[in-house]
Amino acid sequence: TDPALIRNFCIIAHIDHGKSTLADRMLQITGAVKPRDMRAQYLDRMDIERERGITIKSQAVRMPWEVDGTPHALNMIDTPGHVDFTYEVSRSLAACEGTLLLVDAAQGIEAQTLANLYLALENDLTIIPVLNKIDLPAAQPEKYAEELATLIGAEPEDVLKVSGKTGEGVEAVLDRIVTEISPPVGDPEAPSRAMIFDSVYDTYRGVVTYVRVVDGMLKSRERIEMLSTGTTHDLLEIGVSSPEPTPSKGLGVGEVGYLITGVKDVRQSKVGDTVTNAQKPATEPVAGYSEPKPMVFSGLFPVDGSDYPALRDALDKLKLNDAALVYEPETSVALGFGFRCGFLGLLHLEITRDRLEREFDLSLISTAPSVVYRVVMEDGSEHTVTNPSEYPEGKVSHVYEPMVRATVLTPSDFVGAVMELCQSKRGQMQGMDYLSEDRVELRYRLPLAEIVFDFFDQLKSRTKGYASLDYAEDGEAASALVKVDILLQGDQVDAFSAVVHKDKAYSYGVSMVGKLKELIPRQQFEVPVQAAVGSRIIARETIRAIRKDVLSKCYGGDISRKRKLLEKQKEGKKRMKMVGSVEVPQEAFIAALSSD
Ligand code: GDP
Ligand code: MG
Repeated sequence: TDPALIRNFCIIAHIDHGKSTLADRMLQITGAVKPRDMRAQYLDRMDIERERGITIKSQAVRMPWEVDGTPHALNMIDTPGHVDFTYEVSRSLAACEGTLLLVDAAQGIEAQTLANLYLALENDLTIIPVLNKIDLPAAQPEKYAEELATLIGAEPEDVLKVSGKTGEGVEAVLDRIVTEISPPVGDPEAPSRAMIFDSVYDTYRGVVTYVRVVDGMLKSRERIEMLSTGTTHDLLEIGVSSPEPTPSKGLGVGEVGYLITGVKDVRQSKVGDTVTNAQKPATEPVAGYSEPKPMVFSGLFPVDGSDYPALRDALDKLKLNDAALVYEPETSVALGFGFRCGFLGLLHLEITRDRLEREFDLSLISTAPSVVYRVVMEDGSEHTVTNPSEYPEGKVSHVYEPMVRATVLTPSDFVGAVMELCQSKRGQMQGMDYLSEDRVELRYRLPLAEIVFDFFDQLKSRTKGYASLDYAEDGEAASALVKVDILLQGDQVDAFSAVVHKDKAYSYGVSMVGKLKELIPRQQFEVPVQAAVGSRIIARETIRAIRKDVLSKCYGGDISRKRKLLEKQKEGKKRMKMVGSVEVPQEAFIAALSSD
């Protein structure tokens, strides 16, 4: 295809603002999908994916569209919608020349829209503002057109008004993509270079890699090289999704499509890497490549210890399709055998845990999420701590914690509440802008650990659900952090150790100790529950002794009933964990870890 006739674009939208619905309508109107094959959410085939355990989701689709009698090829590139995947979003955007900025006409701009808009501007993309859902009675297209226009420095008349549901205005969007977004430019004679913007594991075809060609041509059957590692592979198949996978002889300048090389692990075909011809390789990558970096760690343990091998197998499977997931075995006194897992963020953690439970039928306990601390000792040695129970002993000189740049969007009524929350979470204000008279954007630098804790829930409750949040990593900062241990009769309960700011150590200690006192049944002897920073006890409760004799309830006689009780007690014992000489039912630990 002549690059002059190609347009590469993506859609930026807050969740539920109608990206999938609009994409469906475009596939239908352009004729890319025949009416008889059309079904709702054509591109989001997660149900089939789940049923058959394969991934056939199209990460990029080609649609034909004629303007003034000239046929064009529009490539729509999907962007991941989650805050945790900023790097991947940025790679998808880098594969495009323009983007639709899609906003719900009944809701207005949200934080996720803004964060992705900033990424699009960093990538010099042409922005086409679109208001969706104008068919809704609650839509306020005039008001939000103004807001959107002000934000991107356009005129309110330039804002397109559409309904993905009824199809109204969608043809105008397709026309604008052709007339406003520039065609891709590249050197067809140069050594081939293509950027990977997504790679997905498929049970039948192995890893399917999605690329945008920048220079030269990638040809079927040639040998290709991954520039970041120098590894080479045979290109078994190359093609475009239109939207069904359609093999072709090759992909030229500006084209978007997929590659299959037979590799089985997405780590061998990394988002952001550059693909080139192995015989005549390019020297410069398309863009700097960066490895996915786990930011949040948590221990995952099977509720039933015998599920440990199943958990390991499940993690091995998920890893094939998730280059950012890392894990290693971990043993906990309180929770038994499990894995210490690293995630890009809280959402990535939740998605992974959810998939392990639903797709692999596992019942799991996760320990409180922890960020990565860099601990510098007075003797100059340095430790990277991803698990609070492995915090170094001895004299600490400095502790560094990861920071984020957070964007909060809120109705102006709640500005005070949001500022108070951010301050209580050790945030530093970086700026504040009124998007319109009743909507405000607040920018803060905050410790990631505070966001991971309960920031989002508190933000929602303090703003009646109206505020939205997005964040991106922003280096590290030295902070006054300490490790708090929880002790049962003097023995440390590893799963409850936490690294917290020194001003919050006391409240963490008091709440944990109080919780465990409630949850742990009385023993034959008195058990002190303590919170400690180093050797200093900061909180204490006592579980009083009782003498528990199950058989005394049986008033002699009935042997079978006695036996039943003994058996029941034995069964209960199986799920007991010993912390020193204290016997704790596993449920108590689970309850203590899961509440707030
Ligand atoms: P996404 O999360 O951005 O992909 O949003 P979806 O396309 O899944 O849409 C979210 C919800 O909004 C769904 O219930 C859609 O049916 C609805 N929706 C999407 N577009 C429109 C529209 O133009 N009008 C109306 N009334 N509802 C819409
Ligand atoms: Mg969607």
